Amino acid sequence: MVTGLDTHEVFNQTPPLAGYDLFTSDAVLAEAVDREGARWARPELEGLGTLAGAAATQELGRLANEHRPELRTFDRTGHRIDIVEYHPAYHELMAMAVSHGLHAGPWSDPRPGAHVARAAKVIVWYQVDAGHICPVSMTYAVVPALRHQPEVAALWEPMIGSTTYDPSDRPASQKLGVTCGMALTEKQGGSDVRANTTTAQAVPGDPRRTYRLTGHKWFCSAPMSDAFLVLAQAPGGISCFLTPRWNADGSRNPIRIQRLKDKLGDRSNASSEIELWGAQGQLIGEEGRGVRTIIEMVNHTRLDCILGSASIMRQGVAQATWHASHRSAFGRLLAEQPLMENVLADLALESEAATASALRLARAYDAPEGDVRERLLQRILTPVVKYWTCKRAPQHAAEALECLGGNGFVEESPLPRLFRQSPVNGVWEGSGNVICLDVLRALGREPDAIEAYWDEIGDAGSADARLARAADDLHVDLADPGTLEVRARSVVERMALVFQASLLVRHAPTSVADAFCGSRLGPNGSGTFGTLPAGTDLAGILARHTPV
Ligand SMILES: Cc1cc2nc3c(=O)[nH]c(=O)nc-3n(C[C@H](O)[C@H](O)[C@H](O)COP(=O)(O)OP(=O)(O)OC[C@H]3O[C@@H](n4cnc5c(N)ncnc54)[C@H](O)[C@@H]3O)c2cc1C
Repeated sequence: MVTGLDTHEVFNQTPPLAGYDLFTSDAVLAEAVDREGARWARPELEGLGTLAGAAATQELGRLANEHRPELRTFDRTGHRIDIVEYHPAYHELMAMAVSHGLHAGPWSDPRPGAHVARAAKVIVWYQVDAGHICPVSMTYAVVPALRHQPEVAALWEPMIGSTTYDPSDRPASQKLGVTCGMALTEKQGGSDVRANTTTAQAVPGDPRRTYRLTGHKWFCSAPMSDAFLVLAQAPGGISCFLTPRWNADGSRNPIRIQRLKDKLGDRSNASSEIELWGAQGQLIGEEGRGVRTIIEMVNHTRLDCILGSASIMRQGVAQATWHASHRSAFGRLLAEQPLMENVLADLALESEAATASALRLARAYDAPEGDVRERLLQRILTPVVKYWTCKRAPQHAAEALECLGGNGFVEESPLPRLFRQSPVNGVWEGSGNVICLDVLRALGREPDAIEAYWDEIGDAGSADARLARAADDLHVDLADPGTLEVRARSVVERMALVFQASLLVRHAPTSVADAFCGSRLGPNGSGTFGTLPAGTDLAGILARHTPV
């Protein structure tokens, strides 16, 4: 675009990437949706993709991050209210996400492929704004934990399943729809929740198994939720409680928001510190079994960490390839410069592997209860894929940002938001080491899980000798349990790469699978993007990743 200014013409600047369908323009995602059993969801995904790509929706994402949420602890007459006020754009995004079932679709309409369909929606919608997906994720994830207490689930699930977003601050029973959060982490530690100091005392004679919770939580990322799953120390040990914002009798539950965190990551969502002043919570599951109860929620939010990271990578590729197709340097479009092509294609490979592995994993969440193989795959692959996609996201975002040069640093562009958000999923719901240790726990306690993993890899190695060699090496490494803990990152990384490669050799074009195996499985990869060997079909890879 050429615009007249007093001193110069503005030219060679890239127009905003808007007015496109984020779903149909993502060939990798669309193929994975079909492959993993959610083809039926295509019409809705296309509608959501068009909505996400609209300039007006992208402006909502910008506004929601430009205007941070604010805490109001008291009303004008001095009553404690503990309210967070968000920009209207945040509420609009929440309403759109909820109306498309991102918060509960697979529970209210549990048809085969429902988790895959939702996973694809999250990958699309998270590209608009990551922040509001936090409460959306937690609402989705709370349901399997609540089902440990059927009468509580029977009360809350219909409210959670509503596709109406209702931000009003009143008792859940008076609302048109509810959202949920979680409060586990305390000041002294988040990974080791058994060290929680918040106490829970049973209300004597209460048939609803109500307890009074007293203590603090150091991270509570959706403090306007209608209910929270909270871990606290009951006499029988660490236990899980559903703690509503308002009590059933219409009184405010004393959950005090102390302050909002000034944190890295998105700015649209409000992460807070809270105190529980004898707040009422209903016991979910058994006393002393809190970790086992909440693990169901944790697994589902871990899946969302993977989806978020895949989404960040996809948006990074979309922005970088779009920019390179419009910006010239040294007389040629960036997209035509061999070294830039190498960087873009390498970013695209990572994004493709992340999306393919995320959607395959989502299929394991769709499997019926009795499907032992898929349950074992879910157990082992959730931490494996979380570790690796979350590890790659920050490097990926940094490199995508560099493709835009200085323009990538300008806050009005989406790149700074991608970059700030990129490490969050790696910390939330288990940081890298903790996730690797969880893989070791799965290997130790559920030996059939690794069998399911190898069964999933199957004979994929017959299509690529580098994959076959990497799988052989991994077998050897796993066979030596003695030093596994200190080697855990290296082993889990290779488990993820072998899994991703097995998907690509089966389902991706040869150019993609070949470049992925050559750069990630052999001795040649340095980890830096843009180091694919000469002779790689860069144009072939990029053709399926450039958005429009
Ligand atoms: C943006 C954001 C939002 C969040 N929202 C919420 C929320 O809504 N609710 C909530 O409950 N929590 C929330 N959290 C907290 C998050 O879950 C914790 O930060 C996380 O679990 C890590 O706990 P920690 O911060 O106490 O770190 P620590 O537990 O102190 O861990 C520090 C480091 O030590 C490593 N480590 C720990 N144990 C071992 C070990 N045995 N061997 C080797 N290394 C180890 C960890 O991997 C980590 O790198 C949020 C965090 C962030 C960043």
